[in-house]
Amino acid sequence: MYVEGQWLTEGPSFEVFNPATGESIGSVLDASPSQVQAAIDAAQRALPAWSTATAYERSAVLYRAHQLMMERQRSLAELMTSEQGKPLKAAMNEVKYAADFLLWFAEEAKRIYGETIPSARSDQRFLVLKQPVGVVAAITPWNYPISMLTRKLGPALAAGCTAVLKPAEATPLCAVAVFEILHDAGLPPGVANLVTACDPKPVGELFCTHPAIRKLTFTGSTAVGKHLAQAAAPQLKRVSMELGGHAPFIVFDDADPVHAAKGVSLVKFLNTGQACISPNRIFVQRGILAPFLETLEGRVAKLQAGDGMAPATSIGPLINEAAVAKVDRQVQDAISKGATLHTGGQRLVENGLDRGCFYAATLLSGVNPDMVIYREETFGPVAAVIPFDDERDVVAMANDTDYGLAAYIYTQNLSRALRTFEQLDFGIIGINDINPTSAAAPFGGMKESGLGREGAREGIEEYLETKLGGLSI
Ligand code: ADP
Repeated sequence: MYVEGQWLTEGPSFEVFNPATGESIGSVLDASPSQVQAAIDAAQRALPAWSTATAYERSAVLYRAHQLMMERQRSLAELMTSEQGKPLKAAMNEVKYAADFLLWFAEEAKRIYGETIPSARSDQRFLVLKQPVGVVAAITPWNYPISMLTRKLGPALAAGCTAVLKPAEATPLCAVAVFEILHDAGLPPGVANLVTACDPKPVGELFCTHPAIRKLTFTGSTAVGKHLAQAAAPQLKRVSMELGGHAPFIVFDDADPVHAAKGVSLVKFLNTGQACISPNRIFVQRGILAPFLETLEGRVAKLQAGDGMAPATSIGPLINEAAVAKVDRQVQDAISKGATLHTGGQRLVENGLDRGCFYAATLLSGVNPDMVIYREETFGPVAAVIPFDDERDVVAMANDTDYGLAAYIYTQNLSRALRTFEQLDFGIIGINDINPTSAAAPFGGMKESGLGREGAREGIEEYLETKLGGLSI
């Protein structure tokens, strides 16, 4: 743990395992309530100096952190692959994406502008100032164990907030590596603090009830997000929530089915499907269903599962046994209710894969609303294809979910693309594009997928208060 610029190493700890091999790869401290309290106190003590440091000073630290992260890209990626499982190339991409947030918010720190507003009274002037919200508590997930940290810490620190962060218990070593970078970049003691814990509940409770915490930022499941938002409500703490998704991927019959199927095969199996923007319901217009399925089946069957450190691996393990059981339950349920299994559909145990949490890349077609997979987020390597006939139906089906994070549209018809873009109730929409994310673009969901946006100009607003001055002259 890292509190007030010091590394803590003594005390009870818990182990961290490689999900590809089941081997222990290290251990971290298991925070006691008094240690979490100490981290919050440290952040509170550091706030006056950090919030009044110039934007240029805060920016300089973030620039240095960006530079260090890129210098350490390879070693961070290797650590991520061993702790989280994604193939090394994907881990390299994630480190770059994580560093992008440090760079973007190093720049945004200098653009926290206020404004003056004309008054109806000739003797009055209005002055609007943006100030940091105060001490921030951050809780991050295991699926993107470095970029989800910088997506929160970048804007929080740029805005002049101080922070305490609790990473997911499956991936604390990546968090330690991020804090080593912040330390080496010269972040003053107490400005960002790291607490690791194997049981997240008491830490979450303290974050939600401690009066010094003015803002809670969370990325994780919708169930936990709702729970934390409720717990933070009595003190009306500000909350940002990046929660689950159930992304529709809509392929109209004017799109090239081969190109669209390639797109699905690339984005669906990224991170073994463990992404909140992963396409979960692939709607394909009936006229192009056959060529689409043929291409997708060919590509899915070729995906090679294995340890992410092996160059041939294109699909890594799931994070744990519970994830394997959930995916298998959804697949077996769909098959029992009439879905067609094209490839995959079982746990992988051969060639040493039994030591890890591997599930075969799976393609199902003929999925319908009676199946669990139609409604429930999958978070695994299963492409579920659902046929449709017309545009109005598919928009209604796509919107028929409590989630509203990402959606994808494939069409060559510009009017249809714009129409559908406007009608879909999702916060992030890829149009003939499988990667609609960037540090420069606002990321976030509608409905039960979340509150607030991360990245972009909007990302820093989440950490700022608006203060109005009315002056009589
Ligand atoms: P997932 O299902 O993807 O693991 P979770 O929402 O359980 O998502 O986990 C995301 C983050 O939330 C992790 O850091 C985890 O430790 C934390 N978390 C889970 N349950 C709680 C809780 N009751 N209070 C606070 N944090 C929690």
